[in-house]
Amino acid sequence: MALTSEELEVDYDHAVEIGHRVWWVGHELPGDPFQCHVYLIEHGDQSVLIDPGSVLTFNDTFRKIEEVIPFSNIRYFICHHQDPDITGALGMIDKLVSRDDALIVTHWRAEVLLKHYGLNLPMWEVEKNEWRLDIGSRVLKFIFTPYLHFPGSFCTFDEATGVLFSSDLFGGFGRDKFLLFAEDESCFEPIKTFHEHYMPGREILRHSLQIIEKEPITMIAPQHGSVIPAPLVRPIIERLKGLECGLYLMARSDTDIHRLTKLNQMMKGFMKAMVLYRDFGDIALHLLTLIKEALPVEGLEFYLQRGDDELITHLSAENLYHGVSTAQTDFFPSLLDGERPCSAEDNALNYRWLKVERDQGEKSALFIPLDMERHGGMRAAALLLFSHPMEISDELNEILGQMLSPLFVAIERENIYRELESERNVIYSQSIRDPLTGLYNRQYMEDAIVRLIDTHNRSYTAGLAMIIADIDNFKDVNDRYGHAAGDDVLKSIGDLFMDKLRKVDIPVRYGGDEFCFFIPAHTLNDSIIVAERLREAVKESDFKAGDDTSFKVTMSAGVALHRQRESLQEFIKRADVALYEAKKMGRDCVRNA
Ligand code: GH3
Ligand code: MG
Repeated sequence: MALTSEELEVDYDHAVEIGHRVWWVGHELPGDPFQCHVYLIEHGDQSVLIDPGSVLTFNDTFRKIEEVIPFSNIRYFICHHQDPDITGALGMIDKLVSRDDALIVTHWRAEVLLKHYGLNLPMWEVEKNEWRLDIGSRVLKFIFTPYLHFPGSFCTFDEATGVLFSSDLFGGFGRDKFLLFAEDESCFEPIKTFHEHYMPGREILRHSLQIIEKEPITMIAPQHGSVIPAPLVRPIIERLKGLECGLYLMARSDTDIHRLTKLNQMMKGFMKAMVLYRDFGDIALHLLTLIKEALPVEGLEFYLQRGDDELITHLSAENLYHGVSTAQTDFFPSLLDGERPCSAEDNALNYRWLKVERDQGEKSALFIPLDMERHGGMRAAALLLFSHPMEISDELNEILGQMLSPLFVAIERENIYRELESERNVIYSQSIRDPLTGLYNRQYMEDAIVRLIDTHNRSYTAGLAMIIADIDNFKDVNDRYGHAAGDDVLKSIGDLFMDKLRKVDIPVRYGGDEFCFFIPAHTLNDSIIVAERLREAVKESDFKAGDDTSFKVTMSAGVALHRQRESLQEFIKRADVALYEAKKMGRDCVRNA
């Protein structure tokens, strides 16, 4: 039922009954945009005072209370949060209260602050009492609604009257005329301004509203602004649900709020992209899409230099997966050298407009060095591509300032992934290679060749040959020139093989002075030719002993062509038999199985 205008004519000099035995005992303070309200729930000698107020107002509040009940009837003093406009009068109250059972009802996080008033009155914590206070048959339900006064703020719902004492939630400020009761939905304007400035975020506001709207509320009695009567309760809750807020720190005007709302959404989008995507290409694309909503950009490029010696990597689709450094870009080092890294405060000084050639023609690129000083020498920058340079206005500067962190996080994350990948590659490569010759080890052979043989067993198209080579009389080399010289021979022969073989061939140090090679080959003859070429190469090489004496070595080889369904062991065995024959034939020759 809407209130009539007569009912709205209230005398602010006296207590006003806003619900059945629920009283407003607050004040109209001239020139105070907040207009703090104090409420009294009349309940015999168990009466409740809600958000008592400050020393500025308490004498007046006391007078109004006494118009309704003796002050000594109040047992509970609810403080919805710890601000001085609610709790400043507690010192006065502490002196006035004579009954032993009086309590300050509050949240424990407010209590830790309120104890600094040095009060005698004990605290009664809502969360230790299941968020409800039973006063005889009457129940006050407490609802946790953290807002700017987080961590200790809550609301009180009086089940008997349906009044929600909402404290700052639904509070309004800045209205010219003090109006105890809201007349229509225009009361949303002061509420809106208040919440835009005071609410840390939309999610927090919505969460509180969702809990509150489950209660059968007949009236909302906030600590500031106007009391919201029943017909306006739902519409105001709905409007508040759609409110953008959380920007109070940066907001300077209403237009700022809209701009910053957009910026806020962009930031959320950045973070989401970072969580959702692993691939840097996806992240970069997503960031660009988000930046496009705030700025007329056409492209976004990232550059990264890890150590002093490393080339600058343009993190592009071509090298996304490999961490390969691309050609040195002409502008990056000169700009980064002597460049102060960007910080949020004076980044405008670090931005530079450059001209860069891209596929679509010449672009204006805004060079944004990223603050990597703390990050082990990694240097990085982002380039934002525009069709024309823009003035680096306060607004652009602010947007860029907000982007720095996400851009940095994106690039640092990619850097970490790339470092991990290259470490993994090194470790993997060490685990599969023989340390002396750099050829694959036997372990790798057993893994990889079994797979190759599997493929060959399933397909008739890909032929596979094996060459087993063994150095002739290698014991003599060791005996004559020493073990170290023997090692050098093995190493040089390893290099020689790498040089002579193709990328697709797999050279393995099989053990001691024995090597084997797996090569794609269609005929036995093809592989014999390869084996002969290797044998010749060894024979033609000169090896050196420690005393610089030059000597020659030869090798023998056995060749086999893989037969369908033949196991690796059977395959090796046949090649080995051929090698044995080569040795038997007088060495320095090739035989086939
Ligand atoms: P054959 O012509 O019959 O192959 O005669 P060989 O002397 O080469 O005999 P064999 O292949 O059986 O002997 C291999 C020798 O290679 C034995 C071992 O002393 C030596 N050897 C094995 N591994 C290494 C190594 O890592 N470094 C050095 N310097 N010598 C090794
Ligand atoms: Mg040998």
